[in-house]
Formats: sequence, structure tokens, C-alpha cells
Amino acid sequence: MTNEHAAGALLAGKVVLVTGAARGLGAAIAATCVAHGAELIVTDVLEDALAETVATLGPSATGMVLDVRDAAAWDGLVEQLLAGRGRPDVLVNNAGIITSTPLADTDHEAFQRTLDVNLGGAFLGTQAYVRLHRETRCARPGSIVNISSVRGMFAGLGTGAYSASKFAIRGITKVAAVELGELGIRVNAVCPGPIATDMTVGNPQYATIDWDAYAAQIPLRRLGSATDVGQAVAWLGSDASSFITGIDLVVDGGLTALAISAPQREIG
Ligand code: NDP
Repeated sequence: MTNEHAAGALLAGKVVLVTGAARGLGAAIAATCVAHGAELIVTDVLEDALAETVATLGPSATGMVLDVRDAAAWDGLVEQLLAGRGRPDVLVNNAGIITSTPLADTDHEAFQRTLDVNLGGAFLGTQAYVRLHRETRCARPGSIVNISSVRGMFAGLGTGAYSASKFAIRGITKVAAVELGELGIRVNAVCPGPIATDMTVGNPQYATIDWDAYAAQIPLRRLGSATDVGQAVAWLGSDASSFITGIDLVVDGGLTALAISAPQREIG
């Protein structure tokens, strides 16, 4: 292991842009990247919460309000970066929303909104990143990390629109990895299992879930922490993973290693 890859310094000298980073996983990913030596550009729709997060992250972080669905807003961010820092080393397409109604009961507007934020945001972010790369004739390697989910690997009751968007993110990750390899841009997906954030444990729509019982079924016997995901993102963003592109990095405590077993019954 060289010094630049030593624990705590995976991202020294690199600029990382994280979407949806005012709170939850995005804020934790940003904090982990700062701990690994990166400068951060954090974006979100929540202006006040974003300002608080930027203050917490310290002087190496700047904030920009950005709705990931808004193509014109991405154009504005590209113009700002072209006039300033240029292409970030790492883009983390993290912004996401969850819908938890059964597919048959999901109205079209909610289905579309979920795809627009979760998938459309990653699509527009990837295009903006490539535009920055091309227009600055960037010679540095690049890394895009798309936050999918284990719900993008298997279904659950009521995960219709959300699962559709998260499966699709894994799809565009692989397409982008194939197409952008020649530019030196790696593209990977991270698939977190249940992580304790406002989207899960703090979400009133899941007030009836027994999170402790859920954790007891996970091989590592706990929910994930946001930092568990942050460490995986930091590694994929860093040169330590320089030959890795197009993968799904599952961060789930072993959840997807499980299959249902045949129940035993009493004999005699
Ligand atoms: P949170 O809801 O806690 O945070 C998501 C952040 O993204 C919020 O600040 C939210 O703002 C923001 N956001 C929502 N819509 C947009 C938008 N259009 N443009 C920009 N920002 C937006 O969720 P998590 O931190 O838990 O989730 C982050 C990512 O991780 C998501 O992609 C999620 O699907 C994924 N994930 C989460 C897991 C978990 O267990 N928590 C597991 C697997 C994947 P606002 O509050 O206004 O919506």
C-alpha cells in the first residue's frame, strides 16, 4: 500500500461532487470524502440544510443548490465549473427519493417523479460530467459513483417505482462504463442495504417496521451506517480502484447473500 492509498488519504488532492448531500447518506458520503482528504462540492434542493452541512464539513466544502431533475440547473453548474475548478475528479449521483406503494396502486405522477429524480438525475449528472471532461480536455482519470440499492437487485413489497429506478441506475452505470472507458472515466454503482437515515428509520411511512428484527436477519446483525457507504464510495472514487469499472459494489452486511430456506417441520 502506498502512502497516497493509506487509510484516511484515499482522496487527497481530489475534488468530489455529491448530489443530494444536505443530509442522510449524501452528507455522510461528503464527510467521509473530506476525511479522506478531498475537497467537496455538495449540492441539494434544501438550501438551509445544505448551508448547515457545508459549515459542518469545514473549509474544504462549498455548496450549490441543484435540483438534479433540472437540466438547465446542471448547465448552470457546468458553466460555473468551466469558469472555475473544471471537471471534478469524482461525481457521486446520490440524490434520491423513495416511494413505497404497491405497483398497482402507484399513480403515474409518483412513478414518473421517482424515475426523474433517481434515474434522470444520474443521467443528467453523467452528461454534465462528460461535457466538463470534454470541454476542459481533461487528462486526469475520472470516477462516477451512482447510488443504487439492494432494491435495484431484488424486489420487496411496495418497492415498485423505487426498484425500477434503482435497477435502471445499475443499467446506465454499465452502459456508461463501457462508453466512457476510453476517456479514462470509470463508472460504478454502490448498492446499499438498509442504512439508518431519514429515508428509512426516520421515515414516518415506515413507522410500523421493526428495525431491530430486520437487523437480526442480516448476517452481520445490524443495519448499515451512512459511513459504511461513504467508505465504499471513497474507495470507488479513488485511484485505489483504478481498474474497476461497471461493477455493483454491494454494501449490505450480507443481506443479498441470503436466500429463503425450506422451513423445518416436526415429525411424528
Ligand atoms: P434522504 O431522504 O435522507 O436524503 C436524500 C437527499 O436528497 C435529501 O436531502 C433530499 O432532499 C435530496 N433530494 C431529493 N430530491 C432531490 C432532487 N430532485 N435534487 C437534489 N436533491 C434531492 O435519503 P438517503 O440519504 O437515505 O438516500 C440517499 C441515496 O441513497 C438515495 O439515492 C437512496 O435511494 C439511496 N439508498 C438509501 C438507502 C437507505 O437505507 N437509506 C439504502 C439504499 C440506497 P428532500 O428532503 O427535499 O427530499
